[in-house]
Amino acid sequence: MTHKRSELFGIRIDAVDMQQAIGRVLEWVDERAFACRYIVTPNVDHAVLLRKSEPLQTAYEHADMVLADGHPIVWAARLLGQPVPERVPGSDLVPQLFTEVPTNKPLNVFLLGAAPGVATRAGQKIQKTWPQVRTVGIYSPPMGFEDDPEECDYILGRIALSRPDVLVVGLGAPKQECWVAKHRHQIQASVSLCVGATIDFLAGEKNRAPGWMQRGGVEWLHRMCSDPKRLGKRYAKDAWIFPQLVMQQWIETRRSP
Ligand code: UDP
Repeated sequence: MTHKRSELFGIRIDAVDMQQAIGRVLEWVDERAFACRYIVTPNVDHAVLLRKSEPLQTAYEHADMVLADGHPIVWAARLLGQPVPERVPGSDLVPQLFTEVPTNKPLNVFLLGAAPGVATRAGQKIQKTWPQVRTVGIYSPPMGFEDDPEECDYILGRIALSRPDVLVVGLGAPKQECWVAKHRHQIQASVSLCVGATIDFLAGEKNRAPGWMQRGGVEWLHRMCSDPKRLGKRYAKDAWIFPQLVMQQWIETRRSP
């Protein structure tokens, strides 16, 4: 099945809705390709980071599906004449995917990331909420693991032993995208989902913003209030640069015949 793609600030975004994205993941689980397929979910911060990070650009180029995570991406796509049907945040994709797993065809998942103990709690929550989803592996890598080849081999070995269908990767951006892209030929899973704080949300370690904030496009405000030290500076930078990226592309679009 082919879908339209939007090209925004060097990011090609698949113009799919939540149902189409889930359908494609389940198809890939059935197929099992040679390399692990992977999904990235760009938000404003990724768009800003991508300008100056070659590894992140490469990770985005090779991604098998790119889903608009945040409202600002959806709004920018519409403004720039390349609409996408809706936002498909990674932290919604994972629970909705689990809900749609048929009971007669269980899905095996491996949770990679989050602080020690958090992924275990997420695994328990998954078992209780979605009995058709089996958590076959859990691992919280130590800080700096991505630069340690032995540790990377150890992680890849654990994944290979567990043989998951889906690898849920919650290591934060751009680490998760770059790590999965680099190791996609060794990751023994059908699909990797690079989904930030989703393992924290599943475990109840962090709370999602209330529905009205999510619908109103101010989920970032909730996140910033919950972690102002880490996110305040980042969001200020994003708020300064992102409109410039949109304006730049808008001017280019008007200039081109
Ligand atoms: N994280 C991790 N290992 C790291 C860095 C981050 O497991 O080396 C986890 C962290 O515990 C949290 C998630 O990555 O669960 C961060 O997700 P978030 O979406 O907040 O990251 P962002 O992309 O916004 O930085």
